[in-house]
Amino acid sequence: MTKTKAVIVESPAKSKTINKILGSDYVVLASMGHIIDLPKSKMGIDATNDFKPEFIVIPERRKYLAKLKKETKNIKKIYLAADPDREGEAISWHLKNAFGKSKKIYRVSFDEITASAVKKAFGNPHDIDMHLVHAQQTRRILDRLVGYSLSPLLWKKVTRGLSAGRVQSVAVRFVVDKEAQIKKFKPEEYWGIEANLRKNEGERRSFMAKLEKIDKKEAYIKNEKEAKKIEEDIKRNTFIVSKIKEGKKMRSPQAPFTTSKLQQDAFNKLHFQVNRTMRIAQTLYEGVELKNKDTIGLITYMRTDSVRVSNEALDAAKSYILKKYGPEYYPQKPNVYKSKKSAQEAHESIRPTVPLRHPDSLKEFLAPDQFKLYELIWKRFISSQMSRAAYSVTTVEVEAGKYLFRTSGTKLIFDGFTVLYSLSNGSLEDSERRKEPWKVPVLSEGEELNLIKLFPSQHFTKPPARYSDATLVKALEEAGIGRPSTYAPIIYTIITRNYVKRIKGYLYPTQLGEVTTELLVKHFPKILDAGFTAKLENELDGIEEGAIDRLTVLKAFYSPFMHSVDEAKKNMKSIKREGIKTDKICPKCGKAMIIKWGRRGRFLSCSDFPKCRHAESITAGVKCPEPSCGGDLIERRSKRGVFYGCTNYPKCTFTSRSLPKEKIEETKQ
Ligand SMILES: [Zn+2]
Ligand SMILES: [Zn+2]
Repeated sequence: MTKTKAVIVESPAKSKTINKILGSDYVVLASMGHIIDLPKSKMGIDATNDFKPEFIVIPERRKYLAKLKKETKNIKKIYLAADPDREGEAISWHLKNAFGKSKKIYRVSFDEITASAVKKAFGNPHDIDMHLVHAQQTRRILDRLVGYSLSPLLWKKVTRGLSAGRVQSVAVRFVVDKEAQIKKFKPEEYWGIEANLRKNEGERRSFMAKLEKIDKKEAYIKNEKEAKKIEEDIKRNTFIVSKIKEGKKMRSPQAPFTTSKLQQDAFNKLHFQVNRTMRIAQTLYEGVELKNKDTIGLITYMRTDSVRVSNEALDAAKSYILKKYGPEYYPQKPNVYKSKKSAQEAHESIRPTVPLRHPDSLKEFLAPDQFKLYELIWKRFISSQMSRAAYSVTTVEVEAGKYLFRTSGTKLIFDGFTVLYSLSNGSLEDSERRKEPWKVPVLSEGEELNLIKLFPSQHFTKPPARYSDATLVKALEEAGIGRPSTYAPIIYTIITRNYVKRIKGYLYPTQLGEVTTELLVKHFPKILDAGFTAKLENELDGIEEGAIDRLTVLKAFYSPFMHSVDEAKKNMKSIKREGIKTDKICPKCGKAMIIKWGRRGRFLSCSDFPKCRHAESITAGVKCPEPSCGGDLIERRSKRGVFYGCTNYPKCTFTSRSLPKEKIEETKQ
């Protein structure tokens, strides 16, 4: 049978799922992502001609385009079904142009790859949305202007092969600035006092209460001497229960996942790095083979900042909750969540495509990682529609003269959504939980208590925490930088480019990251400014909505930017020449040694180069683990990022992506 219609999607997995849904009338082909783009070898933007981009077929993708053309030779109708966002729209637009006028071309978009959603989309094919295409192109042009202007500058001033990027360099700055705050931070000593108290009569169980106020003012104790004095003074007083407050606390479920929330939760609960989360989510979205060779997309599109949910999915969640948990677990009014202002409300949140499909029923068809992520998404979605959890909170205030102590106990009254979705995640929200389970004995106001013992304790204020994948994504989103499609690639890029290192889950700037950030902040304060970057991202959203003209944005950006590029070419300090000072002395000539960056990474060079050519490699401070080698491990750079090699190379060919664990702390630079 001759096929009469063709469908083009990005990937083979997606094409397989869609082919099963559409049946044998259609031939479904994969474009393998973008086929047409700016040339790699040059800027490719004509700023004098309305920023006209020079689009070419990406050389490595030529064979895919040829194949698409060959396989659709006798087909008149082509449906472009790339993902429903800017990138997908741009892929579709380029394909449409590549096919020319000889075919009838339709764009179809859907948020989930299920029979109903796909068939519905094919029933309503539309034109390419040029607003989306323009937003993608403007983003691409801005990134190209910044990347292809700043990178060569860094090659000249620091070392070859470096890269800078519009959003990437701001993300590096976040990590660099955090490290500077931590270095600057001076811990301050303070003391706390807790009282172990017991009822005079009745229930004799003791409990702890914390000193909160002295003379109605916040208790602030500077040092041990003061703590001792206060401790002595407290002992002279009688402890009396002054106030008992019974309250109720409700906890609401959280909205279903957006991309950034999924990345954060999967990091905290499953310890998945954001890249891994997105890779797995993509496989769930594109389709998994189930029983009877039935292939289906298990979750909605994973790049979204919307928390909207379709009515069908809401109804399905409701019926599941009522059937499984009973009416008290479903709220009187359905839970409604609000997306942030810039969100694309046409999209949906990330949710199971069929809410009734319980994770356990899929376990045998999923890889372990897929199962864990599906379960997380499923639970988050179902719980988002459930009732709130209720707690009773008892707060007891105890006075000892002018000293006020407080304690509180929390008791779960109704578990609600927490029956399905745990709020604690092993990190951030856990502090909330620690307060919970112990109980305060039954007390009455005016009752006298026995003091068993006072416990003074020394504390220090803590420096700000370093970013993890999860908190960096959160910070970028809060600053309005990056979008659902970019958080994961940003983190991947700044690590593989050796600006940032991930050590035990936390992000540290490398010396290279610090040096380049300092140069860029000085000469490109706007580009490195979070507020400016956020404003540009908003303008891209405006182009996408058709509210802002792309040329207005590009023109406003271009001249001031090119001016600072020219200035920086003249005035930027050359690290290549000057290096970074150290207190090491050159063993050959006695002059100072400096740090420079070369093709293979950091090294020590004599400051009198080229007169004195002495140079040393900077070892990682770890011995090569190869038996009887005796060499040191040394940091090396490759296209795929940083790795460690042996100083005895080529005699010893040991390499490793990371250092042996116990040595990591002191070698984080
Ligand atoms: Zn020297
Ligand atoms: Zn070795």
